Amino acid sequence: MISVVEVIPLTIPLRRVYKTSRVEQKFLQQVFVKITDSSGKVGVGEGAIREDITGETLNGVVDIIQNRVVPLIQDCDPLDREVLMSLVDNVLEKNSTARCVIDIALHDIAGKILGIPVYKLLGGAYRKTFSFSKAVILGDSVENTVKEAKRLTNAGYGILKIKAGKDCDTDILRVKKIREACGSQIEIRVDANGGWPVEEAIKAVKAMSKYNVAIIEQPVHADFLDGMAEVVKRSNIPIMADESAHTLEDVMMIAEKKAADVINIKLIKAGGIIKAKQMAELADVYGIPCQIGGVMYSSILASAARHVAAGTRNIVFYEGGKPAEFLGYDPVDVPLKTERGKGVVSEGHGLGVTFKSPKS
Ligand SMILES: [Mg+2]
Repeated sequence: MISVVEVIPLTIPLRRVYKTSRVEQKFLQQVFVKITDSSGKVGVGEGAIREDITGETLNGVVDIIQNRVVPLIQDCDPLDREVLMSLVDNVLEKNSTARCVIDIALHDIAGKILGIPVYKLLGGAYRKTFSFSKAVILGDSVENTVKEAKRLTNAGYGILKIKAGKDCDTDILRVKKIREACGSQIEIRVDANGGWPVEEAIKAVKAMSKYNVAIIEQPVHADFLDGMAEVVKRSNIPIMADESAHTLEDVMMIAEKKAADVINIKLIKAGGIIKAKQMAELADVYGIPCQIGGVMYSSILASAARHVAAGTRNIVFYEGGKPAEFLGYDPVDVPLKTERGKGVVSEGHGLGVTFKSPKS
């Protein structure tokens, strides 16, 4: 039975300032939940606070878990995780990050009680390794992004994702220059974060197909699915939905309107492991492949993302951070490993990592 639930907010410094056209981030704000059962087994979940993605704040997530969720799950059997999550859903509204933290903690403790990795709870691993040769280039000046692209390809990255969506002509120029500077072997993806009007998006996909762009993410605004569908129709490049896809209903609408060729699922958007898997399975009904997307996170949330990607048939793209590369510290005993550009799903019990508070 669940005997103790601790809610632990942590501020984790970043090694490098993360700068986009919209935000400048020097640290991460994460929320961890540690569930201990009466036999002493411990499960931990993590959520990244990204108000720009889910609309939740640190205080809001801590408050709702502490005051609404903890009393519901206290003294319950942690193996009843889907039943518990349905109780939790009664008190949560649009709190996908809060939901994500609890769902992950329940999966971790279940795996630790049963002595199996989380992917086994999901039905087994379709794949166990994930390529990490991708790097993100933020929307700086054309000159700086080309410089950064060359630095990354020289460092061995084979896939570059270029942030775009501010000005279509500059975005096209940036892609052209990066292609010229880095050669034909590099895979280039573009993420417009919903920033282009439909006409600009169509212009961009046409121009960028000359530079062999592999995928364009969220060309137009999240809510404008008809616009997304228009771009899909006119594009030779596969279009990925990210900001448009938070819920099962979103996946259904995207599929029905043919508003994307690929769907990007993130655990904090979906509300945890089971919802993420359900979203991918629903997309699978329509023949749409999915990506598990990353946010900046520690090894706890990163491990959960790898387990979902391992245990879901049609999650064929993996986009995850390497916590050790950008975190000032990683609050686990043994950080997730990345070897030769590959990340591996953890074989330990539960998530295969153990939370370690920086104060202990
Ligand atoms: Mg995106």
